[in-house]
Amino acid sequence: MKEAGVEFKQNIVALVYDFDGTLSPEAMQHYGVLPNLGIEPSNFWAEVKAKRKSEKAEELLVYMREMIKLADQKDVKLGRDDFASHGASIEFFEGVRDWFQRINEFVKGLAGGAEIEVEHYIISAGLKEMIEGCDIASEFTEIFACEFLYDKSGHPIWPARIISDTSKTQYLFRINKGVLDVNESINSHMPTSERRIPFDNMVYFGDGETDVPSMAVVMAQGGHAVAVHKPNEGAEKCLALRQAGRIDYFCEADYREGSDLDRLVKDTLRVIVSRIALRMRIFDLPPKGCN
Ligand SMILES: [Mg+2]
Repeated sequence: MKEAGVEFKQNIVALVYDFDGTLSPEAMQHYGVLPNLGIEPSNFWAEVKAKRKSEKAEELLVYMREMIKLADQKDVKLGRDDFASHGASIEFFEGVRDWFQRINEFVKGLAGGAEIEVEHYIISAGLKEMIEGCDIASEFTEIFACEFLYDKSGHPIWPARIISDTSKTQYLFRINKGVLDVNESINSHMPTSERRIPFDNMVYFGDGETDVPSMAVVMAQGGHAVAVHKPNEGAEKCLALRQAGRIDYFCEADYREGSDLDRLVKDTLRVIVSRIALRMRIFDLPPKGCN
């Protein structure tokens, strides 16, 4: 017997994705923005890395400043709408476009009528404006990414938000606590039992070094982490993550039905959904034990 009015609430599964290299093969700035600024992406990143080193600066701040500088110098319009329309040209790994729908239906099937939901989130060091313009934007409950601040004419003037490798973890806690509004503080105490999505209901998808802090946070608290790599490229990096115990497994970034990634993620979801279903049953038991 349940206490009157007490409901089991931790029935949501969260799949949390990095963006560049995880869902999309290239850094998103390569799709439209940098070509439009008249610069070869490899030259742009080489300059960013050189300046980061000589200035001992944060790479994210350097790349955002350099984009603003280039737009100013070349008199290229770079407003929110321009970023969004460049975002529409972002390409994805095979199977990504229908992955979300398939996973939602799979979880629904596993739940067998029980109230278990799945939500998808992005935490990216790329640009929020571009992700919001991409073809799969509507699949996500929330997109956390770097953002510019714009002047009255709509031109970017300053980074409004930066999400670095370590600050990505703040957004995992936002998903965990259900505090998605970035204007709300995330640091107030919330007992584990009241958190909206426990870490063991989460699967984090990343492709490399910058995902390590997020993978570590999720794995340390009983959640799951997966690394993906381009077909025939980058498997060594993932193997190192696996050997260091930072991920559960790694696969080619092939999201099509029946791929290794598809099968392993579905196995992971079976474990998570069974655990939620068990917790639902236990939650309904009287405090003295089984009856
Ligand atoms: Mg990445």
